[in-house]
Amino acid sequence: MKKFLFIILTSIFAIMWNTVSSQTGESRVLIIGIDGLRSDCLQAAETPAIDALIADGIYSPDALNNDITYSGPGWSAMMCGVWSDSHGVTSNNFTGSNFEGFPSFMNRLETENTDLNTHSICHWAPINDYILGDDADDALNVSTDAEVANAAMAILESGNPHALFLHFDDVDINGHGYGFNPGVAAYMNTIETTDGYVAQVISSLTARPNYASENWLIILSTDHGGIGVSHGGTTIEEETIFFIASGASVATDIIVKDTLDILPPPANCIAPGSAELRFEGSGDIVYIEDAPELQLGSSQDFTLEVRIRTEATPDVAIIGNKDWDSGLNPGFVFSFEYPGGPAWKVNIGDGNARADAIGAAGISDGLWHTLSCSFDRDGMMRLYTDGIFSSEEDISGIGGIDVGSGWFFGSDILGAYSYSGAIAEVRFWHGILSDDAISDWHCSALDAGHPNWESLQGHWAMTEGAGPEVTNNTSSELVGTLQGPEWQQPESLITFDYSNTPRIVDIAVTAMDHMCLDVNPDWNLDGISWVDGCNSLDLDDTQREELRTVVYPNPGAVDFQIKGISPQASIEVFDPSGRSIHHGQPGESTRIVPHTSGPGVYLIRIIDGENRRTLRWIRQ
Ligand SMILES: [Zn+2]
Repeated sequence: MKKFLFIILTSIFAIMWNTVSSQTGESRVLIIGIDGLRSDCLQAAETPAIDALIADGIYSPDALNNDITYSGPGWSAMMCGVWSDSHGVTSNNFTGSNFEGFPSFMNRLETENTDLNTHSICHWAPINDYILGDDADDALNVSTDAEVANAAMAILESGNPHALFLHFDDVDINGHGYGFNPGVAAYMNTIETTDGYVAQVISSLTARPNYASENWLIILSTDHGGIGVSHGGTTIEEETIFFIASGASVATDIIVKDTLDILPPPANCIAPGSAELRFEGSGDIVYIEDAPELQLGSSQDFTLEVRIRTEATPDVAIIGNKDWDSGLNPGFVFSFEYPGGPAWKVNIGDGNARADAIGAAGISDGLWHTLSCSFDRDGMMRLYTDGIFSSEEDISGIGGIDVGSGWFFGSDILGAYSYSGAIAEVRFWHGILSDDAISDWHCSALDAGHPNWESLQGHWAMTEGAGPEVTNNTSSELVGTLQGPEWQQPESLITFDYSNTPRIVDIAVTAMDHMCLDVNPDWNLDGISWVDGCNSLDLDDTQREELRTVVYPNPGAVDFQIKGISPQASIEVFDPSGRSIHHGQPGESTRIVPHTSGPGVYLIRIIDGENRRTLRWIRQ
């Protein structure tokens, strides 16, 4: 029935479209792409213009580009509505692209109706050069974000645009320059500046004489997030994007990831329950001033061990004494395999030669792992992961490795290559520890029973829990000074379910649906529509809707309702302190009033046949 109605409506619409294409009453779409804008940073920034769009539409802070998090593949997925296995772009050089097989939404709009006026204004030229340039009536590359806004305002004020794509680049540029992180002022300030451009564009849009009848849909999103000063990997910081679809025809909704499971804090077998020193990936350092005890010359055998807990494996310096711009530079460093892991590695160099060895992968799981490396200066360096031998490499050709700048935990000696995660239990030994000693003690607190106890030169447990220093347990020397990292009590690990949130490929499909383009299943698009357009490929008919259980209003104040579950489902509600405050079946009513507790995050566990879900409700 619905399909029948849909066919009638599209037929009528097609007739109308041909006859009144330059009149009022059609749908129009503005897509604003802000390159490299991490979703959590958008939430933290002061962005009144974007907030106003959120208030007037569908918003997800937990949307995903869970494909390739470089700009080329990201914008291709957004513009074409398919993943890289279809559009073919895997890097920023666009080799392998298949835009003939999977054209952009602008191409499809123009193919349907060449009378539509389509515009694309980009600060990052490859979007027009490779994706949209031949599709849009008017493709303009500019060299500043201000020019993007000015060109858009000119079109909105004096033109008759039906589809308009804008690309702002300064946020990404500042992320690469200073860090993609809510603690980085340059990055955050640029987000707020960009919001000012959005404000200008929206005010030109709403000032259009026929604005009220033009049925504009405004979509805002980004191509990827970032971690440290880069992106391209598979961390959630890089994959999470925001999705906003705003306009008079859009029902307001907030779509968040669901809480799937709550696990106890990850156990640190060496110091259970102790505080952690967290490095945030943006220049956080523990610095140990240079001292005679740290000198290793060209022949001193030594062993270094460290425990880390991380979820990311970019090219960082975990501990070391060198400038990590080159592996040839003198010194040693614990890092990850270039460019994005997954294995950890050790590098040692003397200015002329280098040696590198790879440890095990699989340590970026948010749990504690011990990384050990013995350096036999006229033989091998040997790497051990959680006490188990990983690999070795000849270092007999490596000479002096002293730099004289001290040791750094969490970055290289220039404060670059910042690590994100926790660091603890750094052990510095003279001599080579045996396989057995490394294995037996990798998960045990040190004491005089260790066979190499007498040659322990430095031991930073890093469990102080407060204060500006980490002490060395072997002497009063070699105290580490904190520059940025913060003490935290280990928190419960919450695992999240993103199966209901938007994907970057949904943007093209949402735009086409709103524009009443008849989306052909043979196009094999990967996205779905988040607005109630003319097509039947919206949420009701997709796999994702079957999983979609919604708590609303969310956030709320007094009560909430649940949609998308059967009357037989069992519901249990936990208040912000974890107490179970409601247990039952929804029956006729899915309205729940958790009257006993105050503001905070409530967890709602639902068992509905085979489906088990945990949702969260935010009480304000
Ligand atoms: Zn980008």
